[in-house]
Amino acid sequence: MSDLYSVLGVSRSASADDIKSAYRKLARQYHPDVNPNNPEAEEKFKEVSQAYSVLSDPDKRAHYDRTGQTEDSFQGGGGAADFFAGGMQDFFTAFMGGGFGQRRPGVVDGDDLRADESVTLKEVLTGTERTVRYRRQKACGTCNGMGTANGLAPETCKNCGGSGRVVQTRQTFMGAMQTATTCPVCQGNGFVIKDPCKTCHGKRRVVEESEVTVKIPSGIESGMNIRVSGMGSEGVGGGATGDLYISVEVDEDERFLREGTTLYTQIDLTIAQALLGDKIQIEGLDEPMEISIDKGTQPGERFRVKNGGLPPLHGTSRGDLIIETRVSIPKKISEAQVKLIKEFAELGGEPIPQGPGKEGFLDKLFKKK
Ligand SMILES: [Zn+2]
Ligand SMILES: [Zn+2]
Repeated sequence: MSDLYSVLGVSRSASADDIKSAYRKLARQYHPDVNPNNPEAEEKFKEVSQAYSVLSDPDKRAHYDRTGQTEDSFQGGGGAADFFAGGMQDFFTAFMGGGFGQRRPGVVDGDDLRADESVTLKEVLTGTERTVRYRRQKACGTCNGMGTANGLAPETCKNCGGSGRVVQTRQTFMGAMQTATTCPVCQGNGFVIKDPCKTCHGKRRVVEESEVTVKIPSGIESGMNIRVSGMGSEGVGGGATGDLYISVEVDEDERFLREGTTLYTQIDLTIAQALLGDKIQIEGLDEPMEISIDKGTQPGERFRVKNGGLPPLHGTSRGDLIIETRVSIPKKISEAQVKLIKEFAELGGEPIPQGPGKEGFLDKLFKKK
């Protein structure tokens, strides 16, 4: 069994609220209705639900913290798998809908959905557009979200009178005690569909392909989300429609590193360029630029090119480009070059290097011992 905390992506010290919100997020993401015919998502959904059933219960959580074991055997049919035995509709009403008694039964909110998009660094400069295709639940058009074959409102549940709850009165030594539980006849929906709609099979919603074109602003950074209001799954029974969140990743770039609005890049100079200085062309993010290399430029020296970087979010101004120099030392030089370099050293008053000879420097050192 995988670690239950890591299944939900929370730390061991996470609060009950953290655990609940982590679970809601993951449950939405992997919900079978949003991922039809996807056994991987279904497996993940089960795993997430099981982790939640343990970590949401203070006793079970404490036991798990102490022993690393859960009290329930999930395989055997106990535990979390039964939690949703009433069907997925139940799950939405009970869990996503905001709890019993706070709202009318049968009202189902649409989920928020998530899609991923990636952009290049060059697109960060200008901003761009993406057409996102994804699947979302929409109210069934055949039955207008009623779930019935005739498209009319379903029959109110006789067992609970439409409230979705039944109140039981028990006699105890302290007197009469009342407990409210989910109506077993309608699973808390408050209505019963006797003749289900052929299109949605009484689920009231169907999964459809959707498409939306969004603007991705300049200056966007990895991990930022763009919210497209009202483009999540549709609710039914007067429930709200969710939003679509587009999570944006900026591709790694071969030549540039980014830090906010600043870009970094490296250039290779020859020894002669570093010594004598030069004017060189480099490819900026969007256009070629000419930079001037001073005489005696050192390896690791930095040049700042104003406005060669990226804009802030939604911005048009630009940060700077920082260019760091490297100096390439040739691996092989000709006899003639050797002669000139020795001469160069001599003219500078430096000792004339003799070359490594047959033995390297370290070999000599070790021999002395
Ligand atoms: Zn009922
Ligand atoms: Zn329908």
